[in-house]
Amino acid sequence: MSEAGLPIADGAGVRRVGVELVRAHRGELALVVGLHAIAAMSGLIAPWVIGRMIEGLSSGTLEVSGVDLLLILLAAAVAVQATATRFAQFASLRLGESVFARLRENFLATVTALPLSIVERAGTGDLLSRTTSDIDAVAQTVRFGVPRLLVTGMTILLTLGAAFLMNPLVAVGVLAAVPLIVLSSRWYLRRSGPGYRRQLASYGRMVGVVNETVEGARTIDALALAPVQRLKIDRALAERDAAERYTLGLRSVWYPLTTLGFLLPVIVVLLWGGFLLDGGLATVGAVTTIALYAMQLTGPVEELVNWMDRLQVGTTALARIVGVDLVPSDRPGADGRPQGDQLAARGIRFGYRDGVDVLRGVDLVPEVGERIAIVGPSGSGKSTLARLLTGVNAPREGTVELGGVDVMSIPLSDLRRHVALVTQEHHVFVGTLADNLRLAAPDARDGELEEALSVVGALRWVRAMPHGVETVVGSGGVVLTPAQAQQLALARLVLLDPHTLVLDEATSLLDPRAARGLEQSLDRVLAGRTVIAIAHRLHTARDADRIIVMRDGEIVESGSHDELVSLDGEYAALWRSWQAEPEGED
Ligand code: ADP
Repeated sequence: MSEAGLPIADGAGVRRVGVELVRAHRGELALVVGLHAIAAMSGLIAPWVIGRMIEGLSSGTLEVSGVDLLLILLAAAVAVQATATRFAQFASLRLGESVFARLRENFLATVTALPLSIVERAGTGDLLSRTTSDIDAVAQTVRFGVPRLLVTGMTILLTLGAAFLMNPLVAVGVLAAVPLIVLSSRWYLRRSGPGYRRQLASYGRMVGVVNETVEGARTIDALALAPVQRLKIDRALAERDAAERYTLGLRSVWYPLTTLGFLLPVIVVLLWGGFLLDGGLATVGAVTTIALYAMQLTGPVEELVNWMDRLQVGTTALARIVGVDLVPSDRPGADGRPQGDQLAARGIRFGYRDGVDVLRGVDLVPEVGERIAIVGPSGSGKSTLARLLTGVNAPREGTVELGGVDVMSIPLSDLRRHVALVTQEHHVFVGTLADNLRLAAPDARDGELEEALSVVGALRWVRAMPHGVETVVGSGGVVLTPAQAQQLALARLVLLDPHTLVLDEATSLLDPRAARGLEQSLDRVLAGRTVIAIAHRLHTARDADRIIVMRDGEIVESGSHDELVSLDGEYAALWRSWQAEPEGED
C-alpha cells in the first residue's frame, strides 16, 4: 500500500455536487416535496380534530351531529394521508434511484479515465473501497436518507407551525428540547465527521492489505511471509477497531441526550399547558392538540437525528467518491497532433520515487519500420522505458516525442492509435468475442473482426466456437486458453492498427509450444510496423535490426547481434550464458 492515496473532496466540493444533483432533478424533487407536504398536512388534522372534540364535549358545546362531522373529517384526513404517503414514498425512492444512477455513472466515467500511473500509485485498497463500500454508503443515503430527511424535516416544520397557530403560548413548550438537541448535535457532528473519515479510510487500508494478501498468497507462502502479513492485517484491524470505537463512543453520548430531547417536549407541554389552563390562557382542546403534536414529533425528530448521523457517513463517502474527480489529469489540455510516425526519446530521466532514478539519461530514436530489441538484467529499467515510450508515465527530464510533439500532449485515445504498449497481461473481458475485439475499434464491422482474427491465426478456433464471434467468453462464459487470450489481444492490436508497437515481454508467460505458434501470429501483426520489443529470450533479440543493452537505467551497448557479439561486452556475455542454458535452446 502506498501513502499517496487518492484525494478527498472538501465540504465545498461535496456541496457543489449536491447542488448540481438537485438542479438536475428539480422537477422530481418538487413532486416529492409536494406529495410529502400533502401527507404531512393531512397528518395534522387528526390531533386538531381530537382536541376539538375534547374541548367541545367538556364544555358541552358539541352536538352529536358535530361529532359525526368531525369523525368523517378524521377518516378523510387519514385516507388522504395514507394515499399521499404511498405516492410520496414511491416518488422519493424513484428520485433516490435516479440521483444515485447519475452519481454512479459519473463515478464510473471518472474512474475508467484515471491515469494508469495514478491508479497504480494509489494502491488497490483505496480505489476498491471507494467503488464498493463508499458507493454503497452513498446509495443508502441517497435512496433512503435524503427522502426521509425531506419528509421528517417538513413534518417537523409543519407540525410546529400548526402548534403555534393553535396557541403560541402553549406551543413554546414544544421548543423546550431545542437547546438540548442543537447543542448535543453540534458537539457530536463536529467530532463525528473526522471520526467517520478515519473509519472509512481504515476500511480502505484493511481491504488493501487483505486483497494484497490473497492476490500474493503464493509469493507469501513461498517466502514464508505469513507472519509479516498477519502482522500487517492485525495492524489494519486494530486501526479499524479504534476508529469504530471512537465513533461508537460519540454515539453513546449523543443518542441518550437526543432521546431525552424528544421526550421532554410532551412533559413540558402538559405541565406548562396545565399552568396556562389555570390562568385561563389556554383551552383544554389547545393543550390536548399541542401535546398530541409534541408526541407526533417524537418519531420524525428521532428519525431526523438518526439520519443526520448516517448522512455524515454518506457525505464522507461522497467526499471520497467526488475526490476521485480531483485527480489531476496526467495530460492536461491534451490536443497535440503528431506530424509523422517518428518516435524519439531524448535524454530521459525518470524515477518512481523522488531521488531514485531508474532511467538515467536514455536516448532512443527508432527509425520508422525498425525492429529494436531491448535486453538487460532484470531491474535495469526496460519496462520503465516501455512505459515512458508509450506515454504511461512522463519523464522527469528529457522528452519523448511522436511526430515532433510531446507524447503526453496527445489525447490518450489518439495516442493509442499511433503507439501501443503490449504487455504480458491479456485480460479477457466478460462479453462476446466481438465485444472484446470492438474495445479497440467500436465501429468495426463483423468482416473486419474476422479479418483481424485471420491475421493472427485465430479465425479457425473462433469459428469452431458454439456461436462464433458472438460466443460469450471470460468469467462465466467459455474460458479461453492463455494462447487464445493472447491471440485475441493481438487481433485487438490489428484492429487498433498503431504504427509503433512496444512489446513488454509479450510472449514470456507462455509455454514454449504455445509461444512458437503465437510468434507466428505476432510476426504477422508486427509486419510493417516499428517495433520495440523487450526481449525475454535472446533468440527473439537476435533477429532484430538493432539490439539495445540496458544496465542500471542506462543504455550500455547498441548494435546488431553480430556487432555486439564481436564487441565481446555485456551482450556477448548474456548470449554465451543463454546458450549454455539447456532451456535456452527452445
Ligand atoms: P526491468 O523491466 O528491466 O526488469 P523495470 O523497469 O521493471 O526493470 O524496473 C526498474 C526499476 O524500477 C527496478 O528497480 C524496479 O524495482 C523499479 N520499479 C519498477 N516499477 C516500479 C513501480 N511501479 N514503483 C516503484 N518502483 C518500480
